[in-house]
Formats: sequence, structure tokens, C-alpha cells
Amino acid sequence: MSSSSSSPRSHTHRTTVGIPSRCWCGSKLTTFGAQTKENLYCRFYRYEVGVKRQSEHHLFKWIDETIIDEIRVVDSKHCQLQEDVQSFKSTTKQCLQEHGKYIDESLLELKRIIHDQKMLLFELRRDPTLPDASLESSVTKSPSPLINISASDIALGTMAWLYAKLST
Ligand SMILES: [Zn+2]
Repeated sequence: MSSSSSSPRSHTHRTTVGIPSRCWCGSKLTTFGAQTKENLYCRFYRYEVGVKRQSEHHLFKWIDETIIDEIRVVDSKHCQLQEDVQSFKSTTKQCLQEHGKYIDESLLELKRIIHDQKMLLFELRRDPTLPDASLESSVTKSPSPLINISASDIALGTMAWLYAKLST
């Protein structure tokens, strides 16, 4: 590959990835069309002065190379994004499954506790040794103060248990 009025592909080749914003010297870049036979009209980035003074080392980059660079960057970002989404999906799925399992177990346990406590309450109401049990069942539908306290204790205990379960 020969060099001519435009800079050669060697030396400064591929030192900047993607579209360059400025030359290494900090100067603004301009686009030019190559005048060489091999790369006629191919466009490149170059500091204006660098085109005239070819002995100076200023950035030179073909525009088609910068586009390929950009495509590669977008490609790799796209791949990374796909991996991230996949990982997020599997993590979320696993998390949801664990939560679902935990909720199912908690519900089962809660059902068991409610059942046990219903049975306990039933036995308490039937217990003849309790002072107000016989009176309560024959006279009024409202439970005796003792049973009231037991029921509220049970309800409170259940709520506390549920809260402890859900907040862990
Ligand atoms: Zn420069």
C-alpha cells in the first residue's frame, strides 16, 4: 500500500477506537477524501494542518474503519445486554419460585395453626371445669370473659407469628 497526498494506513492505524473527536494534539478533526489511486475518495479523519504537513504525526483514521469500530462496540454491548437480561430472568425466576414456595409453606402452616386453635377454642368452650362455660352456652351467645381473653390471645399470637414470618 503506497502513501500519497493522504496519510498511509500504517503508523497511525487503529490507535483510536470508534469515531475520533479530536486529534492527539487536541486539534479539531476534519474529514477529507483520499486522492490516492487505491483509496480514491475514501473518506478519513485528519487535522487540517496534518494533511498539509505530512511529516507531523497527527491522527489519521478512515471513516469506514470508525463505522466498523462502532458496530463492534454496539455488537458487544448488545451481547452483554442479552447476557444481563438472561441472567436477570433466571435470577428473578428463581427468586419468585423461592418466594412462592415460602408463601405456600406459610399458608399451610397458618392453616394448621388456625385449625389447631379452632380445636382448642372448641375444647375450651366445652370444658365443664371453666366457671362460665355452662352458663355461657345456655344463657347467652357471647363468650365468657375468660374465653374472650383466650380467643384474643390466640388471635394476637397468630398475628404476631404471621408478622414474624412475613417480615423475615
Ligand atoms: Zn494532531
